[in-house]
Amino acid sequence: MTRINKKVKISGFIISLSFLIYLGLLLCPNFLFANRHKYKNFDIYSDRKIPIEIEDVLTEVLKKLKKSELYESTDKFSIYFCNTQWRLLLLTRNPNVGGLVNQGLSNNVFIRESEIEKNKIVSPTKGQEIALVEERPLSYFLAHEITHSLQTKIERFMHITTPKYIVEGYADYIGKGSLFDFKKYQNNFKNNHFTMNPATGLYNKYHLIIAYLIDVKGLSFREVVKQKRSLKEIENELKNENIKMYK
Ligand SMILES: [Zn+2]
Repeated sequence: MTRINKKVKISGFIISLSFLIYLGLLLCPNFLFANRHKYKNFDIYSDRKIPIEIEDVLTEVLKKLKKSELYESTDKFSIYFCNTQWRLLLLTRNPNVGGLVNQGLSNNVFIRESEIEKNKIVSPTKGQEIALVEERPLSYFLAHEITHSLQTKIERFMHITTPKYIVEGYADYIGKGSLFDFKKYQNNFKNNHFTMNPATGLYNKYHLIIAYLIDVKGLSFREVVKQKRSLKEIENELKNENIKMYK
């Protein structure tokens, strides 16, 4: 074996080993979190003391999840509050993220620094509230991310196999629950309001489309995934159609 070949082999081994260690960390990060609280279907971990108000937040999350056809009462969810920046970065690879599930690899939910007592996440921009804080409390972020874990019941790597408007739209549809207003979203969509631009990091347009397909068209989420209709086609339909069927 030449010296270069040997070096390549060693580098390959080190890279594979690092990947396996990192994967193990994503699957079982419990040892990084000193605090734990169990409640109903949830196993909560945090690097800070967990206030009892978490139970009110989780009751709200459960109420949202029960609206999903993917939810089963036997489901268990592990949630990790990463209040410290390095933990969030290590487990999500994004310092600005609200929450994340490494879909397909693990169903663990990672959430950024939060004020659990206030049912809020802390904005990555110091001194500022997060966008649309009224309809996106902490319970929204938790239910949104848990929905991504539930989506793996249909397809393990749904975020790769399925259009983003379906994956994110449904997570928002379950995440926002009753805080969603179809007419308001529809008007914002017709007026090209900035909240309808997914480039802002908001999934309102996708949420509207999923609400249209499920609540107006009467499809199940599984049917939406199966059909995988083109986003443009549904957008045109939504612009032209005078929707009266919405309850
Ligand atoms: Zn998402």
